Amino acid sequence: MENTKMDINGTMTITLELFDDSFEAEAHIKFLDDPVREVSFILNNDLCIESITSSNRSVSFYKQETVEQMFRPLSQKITAAGSFPMSEIDIRYNGSIHFDEANQKNWHNEITEDFVSLNWYSVWFPDSLSVNTSDDKVIIKNGHKWFVVKGEYHDADDVWIYGNQESDRCNIVAFSKEKLHTVISPAVDIFYIDESIKDTAEKCVDIYNSILQYYNNILFDKKVISKMDIVCAYPYIKTGGAYQRENLVWCTVPDSDEAGRTYLFAHEIAHIWCCGADCGSWEDWLNETTADWSALLFALYRNDRSLFDNILKPKIELYDKLPAIKTSDGSRPDGVHEKGTVLFYQVYQKYGYDTMVEIVRCFSRLKQKNTKELIDGLIKIGLRGAADMIAEGINYDRK
Ligand SMILES: [Zn+2]
Repeated sequence: MENTKMDINGTMTITLELFDDSFEAEAHIKFLDDPVREVSFILNNDLCIESITSSNRSVSFYKQETVEQMFRPLSQKITAAGSFPMSEIDIRYNGSIHFDEANQKNWHNEITEDFVSLNWYSVWFPDSLSVNTSDDKVIIKNGHKWFVVKGEYHDADDVWIYGNQESDRCNIVAFSKEKLHTVISPAVDIFYIDESIKDTAEKCVDIYNSILQYYNNILFDKKVISKMDIVCAYPYIKTGGAYQRENLVWCTVPDSDEAGRTYLFAHEIAHIWCCGADCGSWEDWLNETTADWSALLFALYRNDRSLFDNILKPKIELYDKLPAIKTSDGSRPDGVHEKGTVLFYQVYQKYGYDTMVEIVRCFSRLKQKNTKELIDGLIKIGLRGAADMIAEGINYDRK
């Protein structure tokens, strides 16, 4: 069922206390306009709601249904209904969240004594609210113990405040201050705990700079890029891939092999430009294929055949086994990361490097990011042959 977003504006501040294996949180939601009778939200099914109150009066609440969203665990949809008009509510909840690969849940999330990663993928905070919140903040208690990435430490209250990251709500990465290691440079900072990452982390600075130099001066339209934070979750999380948000790359560990780590950064950094197509549908192939091809173009530009093969070969092997990119019901198909990259490789074999640059650039410049717009855009810049190959290729299914 759709969560109906009413015309209610508010702010949300979550106070978070971290323990060795669990947390306690209190989400304070303030309604900015008129008082409200009812609020609904979703929260990870495994978390326990202790109480909901409004101005110290208790508010009754019930679980309306279980909600399943792509990339996220099952969530409880909660409706809280006051017997009186409410100008604010406090949701107190607690529990534990761990990445569980076997059950495919809580990707990139973990709570330990020394490392905490809580983000969108676990629904650890009240989300899909029936209130439009802006200016969301997370306040982390016992601040002296932690370093919170993109947070601000407030000495007087011994808290970290994480907030105003519009594209990156409630994305908490906290390292034990005592155990944290950093590599600091003008363009990129790298955070990690495990000593074995040291050499690799130091090498990442040069790789990051050379990728950004290529992307921002040659491949794409120039952007002002603020400092990038790269966080390493190893050994607390060892598998499950990486993700990128504005100015944040989250990974388990940069590959100790040069081609591997160059690919990781080249792909994730490319998403600064290669983004905007609907991630929940087959159109996501555009984000992933253009990010992969940015990395492949970087490899070609540097004449780095081993990087090029490292990215492409495993995908070529999978190509025939994967279903067509374009699904009949619009859903996101398996292999959305691989199939498009090989389709573009066929275009590359026919038309070469310069055409691929034009294609990737064309996608990054689209106002509306979808396949139809890309194909129209390519025709407009004189690449009809490539446009036809892509249009045909997205339907390719060996079956
Ligand atoms: Zn990606």
